[in-house]
Amino acid sequence: MCGIVGYIGNQDAYPILIKGLHRLEYRGYDSAGVALIDGDQLNIYKAKGKVSDLEESCTSKNIAGTIGIAHTRWATHGEPNHINAHPHYSQSADLALIHNGIIENYAVLKEGLKQKGYTFQSQTDTEVLVQLIEYVKTSNKTDISTAVQLALKQVVGAYAIAVVEKSNPDLIIAARKSSPLVVGIGENEYFIASDASPIIEYTNKVIYLEDEEIAIIRRQEPPKIVNLNNVPKTLQITQLEMSLSELEKGGYPHFMLKEIFEQTRTLRDCMRGRINIDNNHVALSGIIDNKDKFLNARRILILACGTSWHAGLIGEYLFEEFCRIPVEVEYSSEFRYRKPVIYPDDVVIAISQSGETADTLAAIELAKNAGAFVYGICNVVGSSIPRHTHSGSYTHVGPEIGVASTKAFTAQTLVLIMMALNIGKEKKTIPQKQFEKILLELDKIPDKIEMILEQNSKIEDLSKIFTYAHNFIYMGRGYSFPIALEGALKLKEISYIHAEGYPAAEMKHGPIALIDNEMPVVVIATNGHTYDKTISNIQEIKARKGRILAIVNKYDDKVKNMADYVIEIPDTEECLGPLLSIIPLQLLSYHIAVKKGRNVDMPRNLAKSVTVE
Ligand code: GLU
Repeated sequence: MCGIVGYIGNQDAYPILIKGLHRLEYRGYDSAGVALIDGDQLNIYKAKGKVSDLEESCTSKNIAGTIGIAHTRWATHGEPNHINAHPHYSQSADLALIHNGIIENYAVLKEGLKQKGYTFQSQTDTEVLVQLIEYVKTSNKTDISTAVQLALKQVVGAYAIAVVEKSNPDLIIAARKSSPLVVGIGENEYFIASDASPIIEYTNKVIYLEDEEIAIIRRQEPPKIVNLNNVPKTLQITQLEMSLSELEKGGYPHFMLKEIFEQTRTLRDCMRGRINIDNNHVALSGIIDNKDKFLNARRILILACGTSWHAGLIGEYLFEEFCRIPVEVEYSSEFRYRKPVIYPDDVVIAISQSGETADTLAAIELAKNAGAFVYGICNVVGSSIPRHTHSGSYTHVGPEIGVASTKAFTAQTLVLIMMALNIGKEKKTIPQKQFEKILLELDKIPDKIEMILEQNSKIEDLSKIFTYAHNFIYMGRGYSFPIALEGALKLKEISYIHAEGYPAAEMKHGPIALIDNEMPVVVIATNGHTYDKTISNIQEIKARKGRILAIVNKYDDKVKNMADYVIEIPDTEECLGPLLSIIPLQLLSYHIAVKKGRNVDMPRNLAKSVTVE
């Protein structure tokens, strides 16, 4: 959510910072700002809106300086406007600070500071922090890095921060807790950023800060990492494997469309080294290394939010069918605040594209404290969840820039499929014949996705019919139920059309009251053991004059005769159906959103990586 960039070195900081902010735009934000030190000036420029608005507002300003920090804000405290945008000055204007996250005890701290004569320009929790640092610094007569340590000890909440000091143009202080922060190590130049995307162009050497660690970054010196008690830590430099071209649009009008089309490749990448068709083999190293945990699991608890939660629901069907292990799928945000019963022989699977989802991280801690084994399924290598779980599998789909998740979802689902096959085989709960059949089919999935993608222009034509609908219903049964939820979520996220997904049989328990001849109903009616049941549900909709768009298999003859519109997808094993049926729904949402003129890659109010709870 939102972003931080910082630079100190021999080059002009401003262009590097602005480019970095652009790279972080995908995370979602509502305003942007930059602070630069030039000689004895500490200049702050901010703008409501886009990074390009910030650039425009800087055209006639002094943007000189080889040290600076920059920010994209996603407002939590105080409306998105110029005053509340970061960076924030301290009272004396000697310090400037940027912050991602939430200072939960800001009200108490603010009151205390007011009594000491501090005044506040903004409504943000962030401004309280910069004033607190200044207060601690002056009252303790200490240097800035000690002041940051002491101030952060008083803070309850989540933060990734960067601070610069006017009188100290050779130093950036950065710190994190529950919000991501990466330090990039170049040749006599250093970077900080919320993720590696603003850094990759300059260096592939990074240090991932851990919670409650502070990076003291001085010009021409290797960074020093200390904790809040000033205890130094040995530098752990990680080599990045991401390439710059992976971050570009590659000729597509939007990242989302590029990412939808990438799925043939990303699913192959996700399977690579994990599946061997020739000798009927599926093996995920995280499962093999912890075989006993999975074989003896009393229960599997899946923790996730949003799209990842939908993948988790598919996981529930898979683990129950093939591993005969009871499964519960939980929203991390609810789970963490309940008094959940967690057994030491539970296996917890935490799913998050970014690996930074704040609620899921908190839920993981809860599970770990209860002694459960925690397995992560994440996309961003080196992010917080992989570093805080006992083991896990990466989805390996490369950076996902479009805020609405597409390729990460199919890869999360694929990882869950491979996990279920791997565990089922080890437990001998999946018949060998069925195992082999699924494996053979899995190998064909990327080609089958390709066949669906070939229908892109047909789906684009269909989207015209639905562009003016105000509501949508999606329905499916079995493995297609989570796809109904995910299809509806995609449409909501990027077109702002209200849409709901239901298990098809639930319609008659309420939602069917919504059906009339203006209500488009998208039905996933692919082959499977509930196919005939779904047909009955379609008839119920037809009888109430709903307009039906059905996702069917090739050679289907029953649904085709009942639906108003159909999209055909290739047939596959029932448990693999979600990997195919979601593709036309992703394309449908995309084209409807484009027709409505929406900002597809950065829909309003949404952030890519939800690092606040
Ligand atoms: N809580 C801070 C604010 O509302 C920071 C939000 C962010 O993470 O961008 O300004």
